[in-house]
Amino acid sequence: MRALYQSKDRVEAQLLKDFLASYHIQTVVHGEFLNGAAGELPVQPFPVLWVLEERDFDRAKALIVHFLMQESAGIDWHCCRCGEHNEGQFHQCWNCGTLHD
Ligand SMILES: [Zn+2]
Repeated sequence: MRALYQSKDRVEAQLLKDFLASYHIQTVVHGEFLNGAAGELPVQPFPVLWVLEERDFDRAKALIVHFLMQESAGIDWHCCRCGEHNEGQFHQCWNCGTLHD
């Protein structure tokens, strides 16, 4: 088992889990139900998606990138480095080349 992706919330983690399952990649989400153990275990602030089979790792990574790009497609953004306006279909600033995540 290998840590694959740290999601921003449980909803995203579940979406990705279902998305990868549709490609027959089995994952588990850890860190979402850490209640009652505060102070004893290091608290995982965001759910982490783990891939069960090592051989699925590279494919799962690529699928997640694809998924996240689709999710953000169409939403205009401003470059965090130079502040330039970029259109949603671009994932790199046209002005300075900074990647948009
Ligand atoms: Zn820029």
